Amino acid sequence: MVRYGELSTKGKNRKDFIQQLGNNVRHALKDFSSLHILAQHDRLHVKLNGEDSDKVIERLKGVFGIENFSPAIRIEKDIDKAKEFAVSMIQEQFKPGMTFKIKTRRQDKNFPLHTREINDALGGYVLNNVNGIKVKMKNPDIVLEADVRMNGIFLSSSTIEGAGGLPVGTGGKATMMLSGGIDSPVAAYLGMKRGVKIDMIHFYSPPYTSPQALAKTKELTAKIARFSGNVQFIEVPFTEIQEEIKAKVPEGYLMTIQRRMMLKIADVITRQRNCKGIFTGESLGQVASQTLESMMAINDVTNLPVLRPLVSMDKTEIIKIAEKIGTYDLSILPFEDCCTIFTPPAPKTKPDTSKARMFEGNIDVDDLVEKAVKNIKVTNIGPGDEFLNSQEDVFAELL
Ligand code: ATP
Ligand code: MG
Repeated sequence: MVRYGELSTKGKNRKDFIQQLGNNVRHALKDFSSLHILAQHDRLHVKLNGEDSDKVIERLKGVFGIENFSPAIRIEKDIDKAKEFAVSMIQEQFKPGMTFKIKTRRQDKNFPLHTREINDALGGYVLNNVNGIKVKMKNPDIVLEADVRMNGIFLSSSTIEGAGGLPVGTGGKATMMLSGGIDSPVAAYLGMKRGVKIDMIHFYSPPYTSPQALAKTKELTAKIARFSGNVQFIEVPFTEIQEEIKAKVPEGYLMTIQRRMMLKIADVITRQRNCKGIFTGESLGQVASQTLESMMAINDVTNLPVLRPLVSMDKTEIIKIAEKIGTYDLSILPFEDCCTIFTPPAPKTKPDTSKARMFEGNIDVDDLVEKAVKNIKVTNIGPGDEFLNSQEDVFAELL
C-alpha cells in the first residue's frame, strides 16, 4: 500500500500526478511480470501475486512521489478474520515489553462496525492473545493499521519511508551538465526529486581524457537512472574547442571561456530537445569557477534557467547524499575530467564579463559550437547498466 507524497496537495493537477506516479511505478517494476499495479485517487496498490516482496520494496524506495508505503495483507471484510491476522502480524515482530495501538480508517461506510468499534475489537483481541503486550497511544512500538475499503480490509504493521519528492515527469524536462565528479550526479538526483525528467550532457576530450573516464560518467548515469527510469546520455566532443581556447585565449580566462563554450553548447542542445532548463552541480565558493562573478561571466551566454540545486550546500552535505544514492564510490575514482586537464594553475576568480566576451572573439565560436552539436552521440542508459565493471579498467587507468 503506497501513500502519495506532496502531490496530494496539488489540487487540479492531482490526476496527472497520480497517473504519472502509476506509470513510474510500473516502469520501475516492469520486470516483475505477476504484479498488478493500481493507482487510485488516495493510494496506490501493488498487488504482489507471489512476487518477492523484498525486491519490490527496494525498487519502490527509489521512486519519487512516494511518501511512504506499507507491506499489507488484504483479507475479506470479516472482523473475526481481521482479529486473527492482527494477532499473527503483531506476533511476528513482538518482543517482551513492546507496546502497540490499532489505527483504523474506514472508507466503506456500510461496514457494520464504526472506526472506534473496530479499534476496540482488534485491540482487545490482541491484548488477550499476545502475552505481555500493552496498549500505548503515543509513540507505540507497533502500529497496526486497519484500512476498511470497498474491496476488503487491508492490514499493515510497518511503514517504510519513500523517496519523497514529486513523480519524475510532472516537472517537465531539462538537461544536466554531468561530469564524473561528486557534485553533478547529486544535483541530477535533486533535480529528478522535484519531478524533472533529465537528459545528461557530458563533455569529453579524447585523447586527454580516457575511455574509462567516459565509461565512469555513463555508469554514474546508470546509478541515478534508478530514480527516473531510462536517461538519455549525450556525449559532446570537446577536444578541438579546448585546444583552440588554449592556443588563443590568455591563461587567466581559459577556464571562463571553456565554461562559456560548454554552456553555449548545452543551450543549443537543450533547446533542440525541447528541454526547459540546464542543471549544474555548482556550489558557491567551492572553486574558482564558482564565485558569483564567475557565474555571472559564464551565465552571460544563455538565457535559459540555469539550475544549481547544490548552490548553498557544503561539500560534506553533498558527500552524504552521494553516499546515500550510491554514486560516491564511483565519483572518487581518479579519472581525469576534461576540465581539470586544461585548468590553468591560477584561473581568475573574478573574471570580467566584457573581457570574457572580448577574448572569446579570438576563436570562431559559432563554427565550433555547430560542429560540436553536429557530432554528439546519444546513448539510452537504463538503471543498473554497466560500463566500467572490470577491475582491469580501473587498474589500466591507474597504471
Ligand atoms: P563535479 O563534482 O560535478 O564535477 P566540481 O566540484 O568538479 O563539480 P567544476 O569542475 O567546477 O566543479 O564543475 C562545475 C559544474 O560544471 C559541474 O558540476 C558540472 O555541472 C559542470 N561540468 C564540469 N565538467 C563537465 C563535463 N566534463 N561535462 C559536463 N559538465 C561538466
Ligand atoms: Mg568536476
